[in-house]
Amino acid sequence: MSEKLFWIEPYKTELDSKVLVIEDNKIELSQTIFYAQSGGQESDTGTINNIPVIKAEKKDNSIIYTLASSPNFKVGDEVHTSIDWKRRYQLMKLHFAAELVLELFYKEYKNIQKIGAHISEDKSRIDFELEENISPLLANIQTKAQELIDKDLPIQSDFSDKSKGKRFWKIEGFAQVPCGGTHLKRTSEIGKISLKRKNIGKGKERVEIFIN
Ligand SMILES: [Zn+2]
Repeated sequence: MSEKLFWIEPYKTELDSKVLVIEDNKIELSQTIFYAQSGGQESDTGTINNIPVIKAEKKDNSIIYTLASSPNFKVGDEVHTSIDWKRRYQLMKLHFAAELVLELFYKEYKNIQKIGAHISEDKSRIDFELEENISPLLANIQTKAQELIDKDLPIQSDFSDKSKGKRFWKIEGFAQVPCGGTHLKRTSEIGKISLKRKNIGKGKERVEIFIN
């Protein structure tokens, strides 16, 4: 099992930890700051002992990292992990922007159904099951999201069930939401948000979220 430090210290970009398992180019670490894709948030990029990580996957309570070449270390060694912070921070901002937008949709439009979400480095998106065009709703949601961002609200993150690795984020007086992603400390870190509709076919509406 790897201790998932990216939850407890989401701003940590460098870490020394022990190697627990090596199988060919795949390894597991005792502790990790390197996020593996989950809940729509893409994996980090970075290196372990200067070897690029080409894949990070969740497996049970652990995370398996596939290295670009054979490990230059053995089980029990201490290795150095370094993540691409520019990418991770962008993912954290776009992730939390999507969290705010989704919660606002749920609050403002009671019957709206989310059918998918994805966070990448340049934008995030939420897909809804909806017959009508979502465009007329976007200005209201964008304004309300920007208000929450500009209020510089503190975001709490914690375990709801530590043994099962269940996490949540919470903004006092706004929402508490289960999520296993990495979260910002304050809403103001997101910056300026803008929303755009994308046509993805009948009965579905996609909202794309950009920040700058
Ligand atoms: Zn989240």
